[in-house]
Amino acid sequence: MLSTSKLCLRKIYNSSTIRLIQSATKQQPLNNQPLTKTTAEIIEREEKYGAHNYHPLPVALSRGKGCNVWDVEGKRYYDFLSAYSAVNQGHCHPRIIETLNQQSQILTLTSRAFFNDVLGEFVEYITKLLNYQRFLPMNTGVEACDSAVKLARRWAYDVKGIPYYKAKVVFAQDNFWGRSLAAISASTDPSSYKGFGPFMPGFDIIPYNDLDALERKLADESDQIAAYMCEPIQGEAGVVVPDDGYLKGVRELCTKYNVLWIADEVQTGIGRTGRMLCVDHENVRPDLICLGKAISGGVYPVSGVVANDEIMLTIKPGEHGSTYGGNPLGMKVALTAMKVIVEEKLSENAEKMGQLFRKLLNERLPKDVAIGIRGKGLLNAVIIRNDYDAWKMCLEMRDRGLLAKPTHGDKIRFAPPLIINENELNECVDIIVDTMESMKK
Ligand code: PLP
Repeated sequence: MLSTSKLCLRKIYNSSTIRLIQSATKQQPLNNQPLTKTTAEIIEREEKYGAHNYHPLPVALSRGKGCNVWDVEGKRYYDFLSAYSAVNQGHCHPRIIETLNQQSQILTLTSRAFFNDVLGEFVEYITKLLNYQRFLPMNTGVEACDSAVKLARRWAYDVKGIPYYKAKVVFAQDNFWGRSLAAISASTDPSSYKGFGPFMPGFDIIPYNDLDALERKLADESDQIAAYMCEPIQGEAGVVVPDDGYLKGVRELCTKYNVLWIADEVQTGIGRTGRMLCVDHENVRPDLICLGKAISGGVYPVSGVVANDEIMLTIKPGEHGSTYGGNPLGMKVALTAMKVIVEEKLSENAEKMGQLFRKLLNERLPKDVAIGIRGKGLLNAVIIRNDYDAWKMCLEMRDRGLLAKPTHGDKIRFAPPLIINENELNECVDIIVDTMESMKK
């Protein structure tokens, strides 16, 4: 008879993955320290008591430093996911952790019922850095995006003059901005929205990277459209990089038709693509920018929206907010996290290392396995020929010491922390190339 733990794993993973989990538990513990729990036990417990809303790679991490994470058995890995680009500054960056420790002894949460002495410091820093007039603090990426949509609707009624509750927001096909009911109402991916309706009205979809489609939509309906929202590179869709000039074209069309442009930079922002903002590659300025993830270096959830007065001040006191949004602990952490990006020149490093990464992969990956490599800075994906199994490849890379995850079946995203250096990058390219070579049919 199967043990309960095995039964539990069976529901989630196939038998070869279960064997891999179990063989992982046979590894020697770090420095021969006794293990508190093995990988298998950790996975089992989480699967038994947690909701099954994720499908994690079977590896149980207990420590992180810089570009590396360690599992409970002490095996070291390169982290090539960086918590979906939240850990741009590297795991447990000493300056950010010091800030967290210090501020956590002083003041953590006041709510916005009162002023606190850190929120102003952060919003002054970020608005001057990004050259916008105001910052609206929230906590998670989806809240930042939702807030941007609310702001756009409000602007449409108060400034543009669209009749109440007629405003539409247009989104790009294959967008991803989180899991709230509003976000899934904008989603074109059935695994996000199926079974969760009824959905938010007033959301329309057009193809991504198609300026003609955007122009047609705006020309026909601009009197009812508040905003067009898109990611400058679609991360979750598989690192879909639009054509050069797309972002510029979006800016021009939105201006021409008096429609706001919301750039969702939750994943692409804060240095990830080799610029502070991905839109900087085309020197364009969206009307609203959603930020999250790396704004606080993977240490504490902070997100928000930047915009100018005409948009931001349409929302009045009492009309929007969040208990934790703008709390002193998060704001102080975010302030240091942003300074680390700027002072350690992490955008510049992302640009340099990203170019090298794509060059090496282009030269070395077996062309009959990897049929495409795309990305900007350190947000990259390799497209795998569809008779190969990207999940199995990620398991093999894990065994060789590199963690990455497939996205949309045939793509593997590679997004290490932006602090990665050339030696580390070379070592990681070896792992990726050796893995793909070893799986060649
Ligand atoms: N927007 C983009 C582009 C994202 O990639 C994500 C998350 O992956 C979100 C928004 C949602 O962020 P969060 O998971 O923090 O709500």
